[in-house]
Amino acid sequence: MTSIGIIGSGFGALATAIELTTHGHDDVRLWERADELGGVWRDNTYPGAGCDVPSPLYSFSFAVNTRWTRRYALQPEIRAYLHRVADEYGITERIRFGREVVSAHWDEGARQWDVGFADGTQESVDVLVSAVGQLSRPRLPSIPGLDDFAGEAFHSARWRHDLDLRGKRVAAVGVGASAIQYVPHLAEQASHLTLFQRTANYILPKPDGPLPRWWRGGIRLERPFWWTFGEQFSRGLDDDTVVGSIESKVALWHLRRQVADPDLRARLTPDYPIGCKRILFSNDFYPAVSRPDVTLVDDRVARVLPEGLETADGSVHAADVIVYGTGFDAQDFLDSIDVQGVGGEKLATRWQDGAHAHLGMYVPGFPNLFVSYGPNTNLGGGSIIYMLEAQARHMRQVVDRMAAGSYEVVDVRPEVEAAFDRDVQRRLEESVWGSCDSWYRHESGRITSNWPGATHPYARRVRTLDPQDFAWA
Ligand code: NAP
Repeated sequence: MTSIGIIGSGFGALATAIELTTHGHDDVRLWERADELGGVWRDNTYPGAGCDVPSPLYSFSFAVNTRWTRRYALQPEIRAYLHRVADEYGITERIRFGREVVSAHWDEGARQWDVGFADGTQESVDVLVSAVGQLSRPRLPSIPGLDDFAGEAFHSARWRHDLDLRGKRVAAVGVGASAIQYVPHLAEQASHLTLFQRTANYILPKPDGPLPRWWRGGIRLERPFWWTFGEQFSRGLDDDTVVGSIESKVALWHLRRQVADPDLRARLTPDYPIGCKRILFSNDFYPAVSRPDVTLVDDRVARVLPEGLETADGSVHAADVIVYGTGFDAQDFLDSIDVQGVGGEKLATRWQDGAHAHLGMYVPGFPNLFVSYGPNTNLGGGSIIYMLEAQARHMRQVVDRMAAGSYEVVDVRPEVEAAFDRDVQRRLEESVWGSCDSWYRHESGRITSNWPGATHPYARRVRTLDPQDFAWA
């Protein structure tokens, strides 16, 4: 039986593990560096953490969650859902906790992956699935003096719940998807909040609200609606579309309606086409920024001083605590693991100008390696779970064929991967993502994170395995 090792235990890992085990592939183990499953939904516990994809859509298709209590579920509920599904499908007992993968070397003789762990131990598997996600490594900004700060400082994905922020002067750097969720809470707690914004966002109203128990059946009815909404929403991410112009009008109307001060409003108005950075949803961010005890600073942060932050104009903004909501090393993909394929080639070298993979999953010269939520499979709208499930089904078909044909090695053909990549990059040129700087782009300029367009063309494309795309041995 093909032995399969999966790195991670978030949505991608669980989707893959469940797909494999429910189709008779029983030698499946998962390695998790932490002591609990859940990926980003374990790590991001900041106040107000939740999903900006409507909950009726945000669960596996085979385990639709009808227990959500809100239309936009908060992190504890999502984390509990992941635990429940992992238990129900017998995945929890397959997870080896505290196992941090640091290397994976393809052994051409044994036709296996030798996987190395932080504690110096090793395991070998026939097939290796990376499900480490795109947003699992927090990134602190490269501002001089980070270590000089005399107070406490932390990243939003490593929230310090032991610190009481009440009555403190808090500085919050970054205004992204995470920050707009915790800023209203920080504003409530802090004696003063100074918010450092480098780039303004488009923020849409959030049709949030409680989902009463009697509406549980209704959650299933809402699911196709929100899926369709997400597909249409994604159209606004192609250059210059009617949908994009409607989205932009709604966002600017929301800003006008919630922010009375014309100067503040101007500073909160984005200066790039909508969708280039992730479009955000919030009803309470603008009211929080409008509070008299909140200051929005849009000058560049020049350095960190023991007493606070200094901006480019020389002003010093004193703070007791700094929160960095500065995002993740999204361009790293598998960089934190030393992956070596045929001939000892390093994956990091192959991807030095930006990651690329056939269907976002398969890299030529790295046989029997499958990547969940790999390059060019992130979304600007819709639910990533839909993509992860589609990928899991494709990977399972590859393993099915290996088992049926007694193949030990499967490697995507280089010309197939190159053609896929050309096609994706060509279509990305028509998207808005080229028109501003964002974590979607590698420093080479290449857009490595996102899938161009709606999710159903991707799902259609990966629905059936084309054996011709691969070399089998
Ligand atoms: P993010 O969206 O990458 O935001 C990082 C913020 O930090 C941006 O405002 C960025 O400014 C700012 N920043 C970075 N370096 C800076 C510097 N040196 N000085 C000043 N500001 C700096 O990170 P995130 O908010 O953690 O979210 C990351 C991703 O996680 C999201 O895009 C989303 O995909 C996912 N997420 C999803 C949800 C959800 O509800 N589903 C919630 C949270 C996060 P610039 O814009 O100028 O770069």
